[in-house]
Parts: sequence; structure tokens; C-alpha cells
Amino acid sequence: MGIQVDNGDGGVSITQPAVEHCSLARQSKNRLSLTVGDIIRRYGDHYRQTHSLCPEQNKALDAIASCRTATLGGHLYRCDHCGAEIPIYNSCNNRHCPTCQTIARLRWIEARQADLLPIPYLDAHHPWCAPCGRL
Ligand SMILES: [Zn+2]
Repeated sequence: MGIQVDNGDGGVSITQPAVEHCSLARQSKNRLSLTVGDIIRRYGDHYRQTHSLCPEQNKALDAIASCRTATLGGHLYRCDHCGAEIPIYNSCNNRHCPTCQTIARLRWIEARQADLLPIPYLDAHHPWCAPCGRL
């Protein structure tokens, strides 16, 4: 049992179990965390009026404010099991966006951890004598 994805082109099934989807929908409805995007959407106009921003800074604020919102479009996920629907909005992919960079950072860490050998590691530092080039 998977989730039917309706992206306007017909739909694609993915293998995520319906139970996970439904818990995701519950988490989405009960979201309590505050994001930088939430703050910019609420106070961004005031900040722009009271601060002088260069075009790149304005562009970054616009991207962060629109990240993961209907402004950038998205996909509607529908659970095959219970019919629950949840919109998943597109990311801005701006390099200054903490939401996008958090995901990129977590993927990078996961990829580095996959490179590790299944042994305990020890981080050892040895003083090095620069003039003589010895440890
Ligand atoms: Zn983003």
C-alpha cells in the first residue's frame, strides 16, 4: 500500500506506507515549530522598511519567505488507505535558506556516515613541531 501522488500529470505511486503518510499528515497539522520563513513572512515588510537591503538580500528574503509555501507550487499527496490528503510545497533551493540548507546538511552528513567503516573511531591530535617537522 502506497501513496498516490497527484502532480497534475496523472499521478505516480510511491512506496511509502500509508501509516507513515497519515502520521505525517497529523504532524503537519499539529506543527508547533517556528521557521525563519514564518518570521520573514510576518515581519519582513517592516524589516525592509527600516533597513536598507541590497538586491541580493531582498532576493534571499523573498526566497526564504516563499520556501515551502503555495507560492512555489507543490504536490498533493493522497493516502491510498484512508484518503487523507496533504500538500507538500516546493523548496526555494536558495543557498541562504535555512530550511533548504538543513536538508542539504542532513543529506551530506548521512552520505559521510555511509563512508565510515563499522569500527569505533578515535579523534587523536598530535602536536607537530613546525621548525623541525617532527611529531
Ligand atoms: Zn528554501
